[in-house]
Amino acid sequence: MSIVERPYGLASLTETLMGSVVYPDHPSWDAAREAYNLTVDQRPAAVAFPADARDVQEIVRYAAANGLRVAPQRTGHNASPIESLEGVVLLKTDRLDEVRIDAAALRARVGAGVKWEKVVPQASELGLAALHGSTPDVSIAGYGLGGGLGWYGRKHGLFTNSITAIELVTADGQLRRVDADHEPELFWALRGGGGSFGVVTALEFRLFPIAELYAGALFFPWERSAEVLHAWRNWIRTVPDEVTSVGRILQFPPIDEVPEPMRGRPFVIVHAYSLGTEAEGVERLAALRALGPEIDTVRMVPPVELSEMHMDPPDPLPYVGEHLVLGALPAAAIDDVVAAAGPGSGSTLDSVEIRHVGGALGRGGEGHGALDRLPGEFVYFGVGLTADEAQDAATRRDLQQLLSGDTDVPPLKGWRREVVGEALLNQL
Ligand SMILES: Cc1cc2nc3c(=O)[nH]c(=O)nc-3n(C[C@H](O)[C@H](O)[C@H](O)COP(=O)(O)OP(=O)(O)OC[C@H]3O[C@@H](n4cnc5c(N)ncnc54)[C@H](O)[C@@H]3O)c2cc1C
Repeated sequence: MSIVERPYGLASLTETLMGSVVYPDHPSWDAAREAYNLTVDQRPAAVAFPADARDVQEIVRYAAANGLRVAPQRTGHNASPIESLEGVVLLKTDRLDEVRIDAAALRARVGAGVKWEKVVPQASELGLAALHGSTPDVSIAGYGLGGGLGWYGRKHGLFTNSITAIELVTADGQLRRVDADHEPELFWALRGGGGSFGVVTALEFRLFPIAELYAGALFFPWERSAEVLHAWRNWIRTVPDEVTSVGRILQFPPIDEVPEPMRGRPFVIVHAYSLGTEAEGVERLAALRALGPEIDTVRMVPPVELSEMHMDPPDPLPYVGEHLVLGALPAAAIDDVVAAAGPGSGSTLDSVEIRHVGGALGRGGEGHGALDRLPGEFVYFGVGLTADEAQDAATRRDLQQLLSGDTDVPPLKGWRREVVGEALLNQL
């Protein structure tokens, strides 16, 4: 394709940037447009890789002048909600990769393309932690604009409310720095309102003095799903806000990347993250340990160790998932989860988890953003792979069984009544 054939005359954009623009006729086109979720086939007009905030301004102004739209993206972890990219410049933030940590001020500043994997280890070395989530592989900007639910959540709240300043380019091409004192309404809207108010170029956020915590997972045989999840449900009523935990059914695939004791096996798991001393952690977990886990990885660890504890897959995959925010978790809902995803269910889902939220996550606060709090006590997330048509159909069927009972497995009557929000979080 020659330059003149490119849609919207996009070639002229290339000349104005320090960074680069990739067009459909470029050999790296497929790599440039790939999203982490391989089910999403992104076909924008061009993919731009700005090198700095000035480049972002150029791209936004160029798009406005040429009737194009701009979609900011880093990993494409959350690419599925984006509709058609026709007439869109996909703006990839990969090169906005600055990281600065001011340990004394308990602050970090990052470019919009920085993923948690670049900040969590550095902060941990300094005896500090940020309110990251389960995977090191998402951008801090994408995670933070959507809310940000992580393992310190019940004590310290949503990540978005620990953001202290945001720099962005708005639709008029202006670069703005917003915080509690400058354009406070825009600062409010960005924190939980998602990426619709401009292209974020950098953000600053609080760090917490956490040198170590008592954290890990208790693995039990899948056959004990009902017993363990009921015990977990009873246990969470006894824990303070210092403890955030997850009850989960996980079916490990039979692949080499999974270590031997787990490879190809289904488990019921409790992930637990307890802030405070080892003695406090041991005491808090005693009731769960008394159940006799087959594998017990809970111990004192530095914050960096939390990065991999949820065992999220590092490489792009085709998958589909569903999430809900739940008001309560009646015992009947545990029975329903086990019936739909536990032993004998025939479920093919890789992971079905219930995160215990509440605590600081459920409390509003002065100075918070648009997502002031999570209006629920639990977050459900189910996910499965969709590598081929048969797997796609099975995954969708099994997710459906959990959510609506459209099939012969009973629906989650117990929790369906308690659902308080389906669209509050980004896709987990
Ligand atoms: C394996 C996995 C584990 C996860 N675990 C958690 C978790 O524990 N807790 C949690 O809260 N979430 C979790 N998430 C959800 C994740 O935080 C969101 O999908 C998040 O949006 C990913 O951000 P990203 O920038 O990497 O993704 P992208 O798909 O690149 O971006 C997502 C959206 O963020 C916005 N955005 C990104 N960058 C910018 C920018 N510079 N300016 C303006 N808007 C921007 C855009 O609207 C974009 O469409 C998980 C997701 C996955 C796939």
